[in-house]
Formats: sequence, C-alpha cells, structure tokens
Amino acid sequence: MHDLLGDEAGSLLDAIAEPRPPAVRLNHLRGQPDALAEHLPWPSSPVPWCPAGRVVSASSQEVATAPLNDAGVYYQQDPAAMAVAQVLAPRKGELVVDVAAAPGGKTTHAAGLTGDSALIVANDLDEGRARSLLGNVERLGVTSAVVTNGSVERLVGALGSSADAVILDAPCSGEGMFRRSAAARDAWSPGAVERHADLQRRLISQAALLVAPGGRLVYSTCTFDPRENEDVVSWLLARRPDLALEPIRLAGTSDAGRFGLPGAARVWPHLSPGDGHFLALLVRDPGAGPADHGRSVSGGAGQPGRSVRDRRRAGSAGRSAGSSYLKAWREFATDHLEPAWRDLPRVERYGKHLLALPERFAPLPGVHVMRAGLHLGDIVDRGGTTVFEPAHALAMAATAAWRGASLDLEEDADGLTRFRAGGAARAGDAKGICLVTYRGFPLGFARAKGGEARSLLPRGLRRPA
Ligand code: SAM
Repeated sequence: MHDLLGDEAGSLLDAIAEPRPPAVRLNHLRGQPDALAEHLPWPSSPVPWCPAGRVVSASSQEVATAPLNDAGVYYQQDPAAMAVAQVLAPRKGELVVDVAAAPGGKTTHAAGLTGDSALIVANDLDEGRARSLLGNVERLGVTSAVVTNGSVERLVGALGSSADAVILDAPCSGEGMFRRSAAARDAWSPGAVERHADLQRRLISQAALLVAPGGRLVYSTCTFDPRENEDVVSWLLARRPDLALEPIRLAGTSDAGRFGLPGAARVWPHLSPGDGHFLALLVRDPGAGPADHGRSVSGGAGQPGRSVRDRRRAGSAGRSAGSSYLKAWREFATDHLEPAWRDLPRVERYGKHLLALPERFAPLPGVHVMRAGLHLGDIVDRGGTTVFEPAHALAMAATAAWRGASLDLEEDADGLTRFRAGGAARAGDAKGICLVTYRGFPLGFARAKGGEARSLLPRGLRRPA
C-alpha cells in the first residue's frame, strides 16, 4: 500500500480498518428516490455520485431484513459500487450487457436508470450466483432483463458486436472489501493479484468484442492494485485502437492519472463513502468495422446475413392466439390487472412457465438463459382444466397495474410477520389472489379465503417468525 500511495497509505489503512455504515440504492422502479427516501426508517445521508444512493445509520442485517428490502424499495450496495452504472449512463432502448453481473447491483441500477426500458443481458459464470442475480432482478421488479449463466465467450458468440453499453465489473482480488470480508483478506496474496489480472485481461478483451460501433464499455473492480485496474485497461487500449478512454467526471471520485491512466477514476475509502472502486469508461469509434471475434462458439453464430439488431427486433416465435395457456393468462389479466396487460405483445410458454419477453429479445444461441423478461406465472392442469397460477415476480413487477384484491400490512405487525414466514394474515372479505403490500410496496401474493390471506411467498424467500 505504501508503494501505491506513499504518505496517504496510513489514511487508507485506517479507513479500511474502521467499520462503516451500510448504504442503499433506492429503486427508481418503485418511485422517485427522494420520495422513497422518506420511507427509510433510519437516518440517512446522500452518496455524492449517485442521486438514488443513501448511507444509512443501521446495521447491514437490519437493512437486509426490513420489509422495504423485500418489497424491492432499495438494493443494499456499497456506495463506491453505485458509481459504475452512473458512469455507464444507460439509455432507454439500448442493449446493455452486464458480463459478470451477480448478485445484480449494477444490473438493477441500470434497469432503474432506464425506467426498465433497456434490454439488459445480465450474465454470470457461477450458476448459484446467477440464481441470486435472478432473485434480485425479480425483487426489484425488473422486467427488461435476460438472466444468463455462462462464459463471456458464449455471449460474444450469440450477440456479436451489438451492445450499446457493456459492464465488466470484474472478479478481482477484492482489496476494497477487506473491511467487510475476512474471506477477502484471507484469499489475498501477490499471486492472487497476478492470477486475477490474467483473468481480467481475458474478460475485458471478450467484453470489448460485444461493443457496437459508438457503444461504450465500463470496466470496474473493487480492488486497489493498478495491475488489476489501470494496467488491464491500458493493455486493452494498446490492442484495440478503435476504443478510446472517455474521461470520467463524477462528483466525489478521483482521477487515476497518478497510476498511469488519466481519465479513469478511483473511489477511495479514506476520501469518500464506500469501500473503494476503480472505473474506466471506453467508447468505441462509431465508424469502426466489425471487431475480430477470435474463436467462435459452437452453434452461437446466429443466422448468417441477418444482423443482431435485426434479430433483436424479430417478433415472437409461433403461438396460436387460441392457445389454452393464453386464454388462462388473459382471463387472469382481465380479472386482476389493467387492460394493457391482457394484450402483452410477447407472452411465451416455456415448459410450465409463462413469460412476458422483453420487446426486442431474440434467442441467444449457445447461451444458457435462466430467465428472459418477466415470469408471469405457471400453467398447470387441474383435472383437465388449464389454470394460470401467478408467479411471485408478477407481484413484484405489476403493482401499479394491479386491480385485484389487495391487503396492506403496515398496520398489522403480527400479520406481516406471519405472511413473511409463509403463514396467513387477516384478510377481511378479500377473496382469491390478493396482492400483499407494505406501505403500498409489493411483498408478494396471498390466497384469500374465509377471512384469511395465506402467503404464497416462495419457500426460499420466507423469513421464519
Ligand atoms: N457486478 C456485480 C454486482 O454489481 O452485483 C458484482 C460482480 S463480482 C465483482 C464478479 C462476478 O464475476 C462474480 O459474481 C463471479 O461469479 C463472476 N465471474 C467470475 N469469473 C467469471 C467469468 N469468467 N465470466 C463471467 N463472470 C465471472
């Protein structure tokens, strides 16, 4: 650290040793951040570079288990990590690819900043972590994401250079996490830095292949060593003359010029809130031709002669308007949701799951897609009748459009505890599928009958009383 920062190293080490309060990023998809902040039950202060960010006076455990967390009102995230999507500045209608996305901090931030109107391919190599990513996407009510599990090479094979915006928040030696994580401290070694730098060079060279002419790439890590940061980006820039570093101007961050890459940014734990981060923004020459995609992925090249943009616009595959599953869905939508939901353009059945695909989603050959768009519910056969059973994700995404029975549990602390544990709350005369909320924010569905609303929360999301 002394080699890196000289006299400043002591302040950095002191900052790392000190416990710090957690932070949340308020979810644009639940409302305006300033209005949502009024609901926080703890004193809070702003994060300089992220209007939706708040540092809160609470324990991380309190933040993680509060009803507002389960209602997707916020995402607990280190303040430094909030700089990444701010720098990317994703726009409505863009194709955004988050290469190493789990557990979903940057993906859900990008979805919020675009009002859920980009197409976000959120990938992670680790299947268990990709499942957490999917859980967070659903909790925050994101409908525009395609969650995938696999290597970046497979994404390149399926998408080519079609992304308007790419995030590579790379696996790293995690020096910025030393304060919070004994595991990160134990795993660190000089060899680990070199191994991560090798992996990061491989990942960034692939991530850069995804970028369309005129598109942008944000590379970030939560570690301090220049070998995993400035050196990785400089290595790429030396090989890709069609990419240029775009200077980052974000309040509260420092320029990385002293480590050889002016224009890249550092967030330091001793100078600002958070654990520390490195960020670089690269922009691809709008006049650039196709990038060299190196080795191809078996079965992943898509249809020759048809651009990825065309494929993204392609309509849904064959389905019959009279399908029994569509009828079952439409009946449910007619009874419970605003009229527009009845005629969603791209409702598709995959096994028993019924999904509302993002508008411009096209198949990703060779890529393991865990979920595309919104899981509306499941189609089940009940004694020869096709029945639609709504999914938890629908409760989390369709709150504003819900016209069926609802039950708010803010004033019923016991009922709230029972519902969250998978039990029943008092439901008055509500009947059938009922949207359960806390202060108007969605917690999930219940089935109401005989004065009781029995929780339909998936087992993995229940909180024992
Ligand atoms: N961007 C995430 C967020 O904001 O929540 C955090 C990402 S974390 C720093 C790095 C991720 O990279 C881990 O989830 C890890 O599983 C994933 N990973 C590691 N090697 C990978 C690879 N070769 N391809 C894609 N993801 C990888």
